Amino acid sequence: MIKQDENISGICTPAIGEAGKTGDWSDVKPAIDHSKCTPAVKGKAACFLCWLYCPEGVVHMTIPVQIDLDYCKGCGICAEECPPNAITMVRKEDMNE
Ligand code: SF4
Ligand code: SF4
Repeated sequence: MIKQDENISGICTPAIGEAGKTGDWSDVKPAIDHSKCTPAVKGKAACFLCWLYCPEGVVHMTIPVQIDLDYCKGCGICAEECPPNAITMVRKEDMNE
C-alpha cells in the first residue's frame, strides 16, 4: 500500500478555505509549557497524545512540540488529553504572537 500522507492524526490537511484560515475562528489557543511537556523534558520522542487527538492535524511531532496556530481552531482537546497538563488554553490577545 502506498502511503499518501505522513499525517495520520487528522482526517484532513490544513488549508485555506472559503472562510479563511480555521485559526481565525477561535478566541483561545493552546500554549505549551515545555518545562512540563514530556518530549522536551525527556529529550526524546514520547507521548505526543496532543498530536494523536488533534482533530485538525496541526500538532507537529517535534521536540519541542509545535502547533500551527494558523489552523488551530481552539477546541482544547489537546489540553484535555495532555497527561502532565502542559497545555493551557489562553485568550489570543494574551498570547505573544
Ligand atoms: S500531550 Fe502534553 S506532554 Fe504529551 S507531547 Fe503533547 S503537550 Fe507534550
Ligand atoms: S486546540 Fe484543538 S485544533 Fe488546536 S491544537 Fe489543540 S486539539 Fe488541535
